[in-house]
Amino acid sequence: MAICFCKKHGDSGVVSCISKDVCEDVLGRSNEAINNIYIVVIKVFDAEEFLFDQINYVSESIFKLYNLSVKYEVHSESDEENLNSFFPETSGACGKCFEEYILSRNLIA
Ligand SMILES: [Zn+2]
Repeated sequence: MAICFCKKHGDSGVVSCISKDVCEDVLGRSNEAINNIYIVVIKVFDAEEFLFDQINYVSESIFKLYNLSVKYEVHSESDEENLNSFFPETSGACGKCFEEYILSRNLIA
């Protein structure tokens, strides 16, 4: 896990793969209300061997705009390229801020 420096929490772990509108909202800079957050799991394989789950936190509006589903599998470089070609851009936020944000809003869909 990467480390960031948060004004509120100091050195803190980073939650990555959060859609940009949600990151802005965590920082209190969003004009758009976030109604729900969808969890999109990308299962990453090396050929048939399962490596890890990449968890993405995506706002409902982005989820619908990009017509996403809640689960993808990546088995090869071409799968990854394909996914990157339509997957929305994500960013990271302080893990503690993100946790407070989620808990205070009861957002996870
Ligand atoms: Zn923080």
